[in-house]
Amino acid sequence: MNIGIVGLGLIGGSLGLDLRRQGYRVLGLSRRPETCRAAIARGVVDDADVNFTLMAKAKVIFICTPLSAILPTVEQLIPFLAADTVLTDVGSVKTPVVEAITPLWHNFVGGHPMAGKTESGLDAAQANLFLGQPYVITPLATTPVTAVESVEFLVKALGAKLYHCSPQAHDRAVAWISHLPVMVSAALISACMSESNPLVLSLAQHIASSGFRDTSRVGGGNPELGVMMARYNRQELLRTLKSYRQQLDFFIDCIEKEEWGVLEEKLMQTQQARPDFLDS
Ligand code: NAP
Repeated sequence: MNIGIVGLGLIGGSLGLDLRRQGYRVLGLSRRPETCRAAIARGVVDDADVNFTLMAKAKVIFICTPLSAILPTVEQLIPFLAADTVLTDVGSVKTPVVEAITPLWHNFVGGHPMAGKTESGLDAAQANLFLGQPYVITPLATTPVTAVESVEFLVKALGAKLYHCSPQAHDRAVAWISHLPVMVSAALISACMSESNPLVLSLAQHIASSGFRDTSRVGGGNPELGVMMARYNRQELLRTLKSYRQQLDFFIDCIEKEEWGVLEEKLMQTQQARPDFLDS
């Protein structure tokens, strides 16, 4: 079976590597000819082009462009598709994507692999990126069962853990565990940079170790992706950021008043709660 991938960057390239290893013929489309050539050379795709005609041969197509390009890409793609072609996307926000594309293409299943890394672009693509990671799909009641089953089958072939939910539930949940952490982590790096004593700043930069590496990782990632999260999931992200600000005020208050018992109780609660997010 031919699988199409539009947007040969970190996610599109990683999908190509895994799907080819599963024996699928992978056809790629990207904006720049050099990315298409590099994708063929790296074995990410069997063939690639900047021209949409190549996608006419694909049964299932993954749209892996930046969020802002998903809708324009689908609009350009539609004239080349057979009626039974299944479209899915990997965008980090689902409600605006699903609401915009469903009226244009019936066989569309929103999706979001919960896997990534700090680097972006084709060079960052890696095999097994999705192995053991959650992969959320957000079909609607009207989405054809055959389209949902096609995407489910491929997600399972990647070794990912499949989850179903509504686009709205997805966006509210990822605001907490993905989009808020990007902003918090970026704010952490920015706050550290505001140290006014250059000697102290330099010392901090030299002695930063695993704790800073863990907490700054997502704030040091692709800026375009962070802006897209904020633009497309604005309401949910604002809601979580305001809640986070309240939590910061709580910590400031405890420390100013030297309420060490209250602080300890809070830290015991967070210590207990963390595994529920990571081990479930
Ligand atoms: P990326 O590494 O920057 O790759 C995006 C690729 O899309 C670029 O390599 C670019 O290729 C191509 N592209 C850009 N505009 C295009 C257009 N108009 N038409 C065709 N191709 C275009 O980004 P990514 O991290 O893979 O993210 C892609 C999608 O995955 C986004 O929607 C994002 O929300 C989602 N996602 C990201 C992560 C993550 O952690 N990074 C995780 C889950 C989901 P050229 O070289 O040809 O310009």
